Amino acid sequence: MNNFFDKLLLGTLKDGWTIEKIQENMAAQEKFSMMYTNLEGEDQLLIFMPMEKETWYFIMAIPDSIIKGQVQDIIMLYLLFWVLSVAVIVLAVAMIIREERLMARTERKHQKEISEALELAKQGNRAKTTFLNNMSHDIRTPMNAIMGYTSLAITHIDKGEQVKEYLEKIYQSSAHLLSLINDVLDMSRIESGKLEIEEKPESLPDILHTLRDMMQADIHTKQLDFYIDIMEVTDEDIFCDKLRLNQVLINIVSNAIKYNRPGGSISICVVQKGAPKDGYGTYDFRIKDTGIGISREYLHEIFEPFSRERNSTISGIQGTGLGMAITKNIVDAMGGTIRVSSEEGKGSEFIVTLKFRLQKEHKEIAVIEKLQGLRGLVVDDDINACQSVSHMLRQIGMLSEWTRFGKEAVIRTKEALELGNPFYVYIIDWLMPDMNGIEVARRIRMEVGDDAPIIILTAYDWADIEKEAREAGVNDFVSKPLFFSDLQGTLSKLCEEETETTPGPREEAVLDFHGSRILLVEDNLWNQEVAQEILENLKLTVETVSNGQEAVTAVETAEAGWYDLVFMDVQMPVMNGYDAAKAIRALTDPAKAKVPIVAMTADAFEEDRQKALQSGMNDHISKPLDMEALIKVLRKYIENEKG
Ligand code: ADP
Repeated sequence: MNNFFDKLLLGTLKDGWTIEKIQENMAAQEKFSMMYTNLEGEDQLLIFMPMEKETWYFIMAIPDSIIKGQVQDIIMLYLLFWVLSVAVIVLAVAMIIREERLMARTERKHQKEISEALELAKQGNRAKTTFLNNMSHDIRTPMNAIMGYTSLAITHIDKGEQVKEYLEKIYQSSAHLLSLINDVLDMSRIESGKLEIEEKPESLPDILHTLRDMMQADIHTKQLDFYIDIMEVTDEDIFCDKLRLNQVLINIVSNAIKYNRPGGSISICVVQKGAPKDGYGTYDFRIKDTGIGISREYLHEIFEPFSRERNSTISGIQGTGLGMAITKNIVDAMGGTIRVSSEEGKGSEFIVTLKFRLQKEHKEIAVIEKLQGLRGLVVDDDINACQSVSHMLRQIGMLSEWTRFGKEAVIRTKEALELGNPFYVYIIDWLMPDMNGIEVARRIRMEVGDDAPIIILTAYDWADIEKEAREAGVNDFVSKPLFFSDLQGTLSKLCEEETETTPGPREEAVLDFHGSRILLVEDNLWNQEVAQEILENLKLTVETVSNGQEAVTAVETAEAGWYDLVFMDVQMPVMNGYDAAKAIRALTDPAKAKVPIVAMTADAFEEDRQKALQSGMNDHISKPLDMEALIKVLRKYIENEKG
């Protein structure tokens, strides 16, 4: 131990410590520490700790530098701890604030969603109210006329002519009412996403010729000029939903007629845009009228259901405001576009652009060798027709010229003959303001003799003018709108100098179902009477029963094949039409069980049709009876049945 104190004395005891004080503390078994500088000048902390055995002391010398280092570490740790704690607290506070903000935002979002839903519901209600108001008004107007004229007819029942007039008005109002119902059905089908586009191989010339025929009567009544021109359509055979395409075109053209003034005009132009791509061709259908036009403000709403422009309602023109909404939806479903431009008081133009898959590979146009380099003259008061027919003649290989006047055509014919450079083909419009086409043909024929083919271009029934035209020297006719294939076919035929006579208009098959028997199942006596009358007019034998149960008994007890067709109402007392159809299909005699059954019902939705088919019926037609649909069904089942 003395050695220890000797060693201590070699260094310096600090803070007033002496060897004696240390010894005293040790004798008192104290625990203590002191600073000390050793011989090498290093500061140390000496720690004295008594051991359990009284004579032992544990003495520890820790260099001051280590202690200071550790203290710094501890301070650092301490600081770090605080910084971290503060950071954690700040973070926690930030998170709490953020959470609160989020909650507030979510709350606001919920509030917004709730008020939006509320607004939507209100809008829905408003739309429903508008719909009901519109419907109520639109149904009431023709109903009013029907009821009013019916009572007038009853009052004047003995005045035949007057009653006939009233009945015609009743018929017109009923037709309008039916078109309103059909529009609403269509709209509901569209809104429930049930609008389906069924593509089938079709021919554009057929579609446009049918459109022209359908519109002709209304155009004539309203004294309008009507033009259809085909521009650069090289692919005529396409895949499309003819019914829907017709609906689009009819809706637009009907409006062009309806919102037009006598003496005005409507022109339809079909253009194939560019060469086909990947087997598809793009077509523009442009329908232009010189009618009352549409205001700039209303143009934005024209495709909204039930919307109508003020001036069309003021003018008392009937309509539902559904046609354009339906049209737009169909065009959308066909993957096309519809644009409209208009000027109030001047007229409107609708452009529908559609893409159709082509039936064949794009075929190169064949020139007619015999006509190569020869001159042709087109005579038509419609400048578009002149240009389009001239373009076709050039494609055939001819040199084409045109004029809008019959008299000029005659003068140019004479001139050409005098100059020794005659025209070899004439294509002349039938109806021209300055001189009728047949008269032009007669005068040209007198000049050119028998050589040059003269073809009449007509939008009307050729049969009406054929005799007169042939006497005037006309060789053949082509119907408007003129498609390339028609012109090429007619010219090739004439060039081959075939002596076949020109085919007249197609004979309509005579409608005579004589010898066929129908079972008419209908509980409403009036409807039964109407249907029976219509069917008997088609020479059918009609037996009637008043409910499904009677229908099943009738089919079961009659010999197999007795009935050619059953027309089945759906909603009937005792047994409804669906159950009756199921019961007939379940009859033990298979020949009786397979009798064709067609639903004839006022339940005209697609779901009703599906329900009828599911119950085992073959088809479905809706009431009121549409003659075309009725005849289609009769032909389908009765003629097929009889093979
Ligand atoms: P509506 O049954 O009233 O004819 P549509 O949906 O077919 O309904 O048309 C909506 C409205 O657009 C019409 O009421 C009319 O105001 C306007 N409209 C449509 N086509 C024409 C047009 N060719 N010329 C002038 N206005 C038109």
